[in-house]
Amino acid sequence: MIRAETMSEDRYLEEREQMVRKQLKQRGISDERVLSAFRKVKRHLFVPDRYRDLAYSDQPLPIGHDQTISQPYIVAFMTESLDLNATDTVLEIGTGSGYQAAIIAEICREVYTIEILPSLGASARELLDELNYSNVHVKVGDGYKGWDLHAPYDAIIVTCSPTHVPQALKDQLSEDGRMIIPVGKKYAQELVLLRKKKGELVEDSVLPVRFVPMVDDGGKRY
Ligand code: SAH
Repeated sequence: MIRAETMSEDRYLEEREQMVRKQLKQRGISDERVLSAFRKVKRHLFVPDRYRDLAYSDQPLPIGHDQTISQPYIVAFMTESLDLNATDTVLEIGTGSGYQAAIIAEICREVYTIEILPSLGASARELLDELNYSNVHVKVGDGYKGWDLHAPYDAIIVTCSPTHVPQALKDQLSEDGRMIIPVGKKYAQELVLLRKKKGELVEDSVLPVRFVPMVDDGGKRY
């Protein structure tokens, strides 16, 4: 069933334009493919009803189960840093609301995304289906192990934070592939950008951040 809100006239159009201008362009996001994805994807559909009017504000928002949808700037920064191409296949760990997956799906050929919490995975899948993102594939499971079946990936984005870069994700990155991942302590992490060059990973710290922890299915942090 298509939700009325999905179909209705987009009353958040102006707010979305302002978000792109003030939160993204003015802070240095310049990749047109990224900016146009943010103009297109209706962020208000990816947040719970009671936060709808805050969907385009400059902050992360709760999405239930103690999880959050990241601040628009962080989603944009991570997306831009992956230097994505239209032909890329991308793996995301931490589907959450499905918003980040939708942004990447506007730019790339195929998005594989893994969510450990079954109810979040199911609702993200349902919404992405409603919005006709047939190039997004949601799996419920533990992203620490990656998704070997569709590897290698041109880019990998991790939106929950482990203490170290999982070996499976390194292995599943293609030659010249890029990975962006928040690594560190529970409440103090660095976004790390990795590139695979001749089989070796080259690593750069790019921004201090604070993401929810990456956990196993018993809730223990990786
Ligand atoms: N990218 C999301 C934000 C995700 S918040 C969005 O655009 O809305 C981080 C998500 O990672 C949470 O939903 C959390 O349940 C999930 N997560 C935590 N550990 C995980 C793991 N080991 N594998 C997959 N997902 C995980």
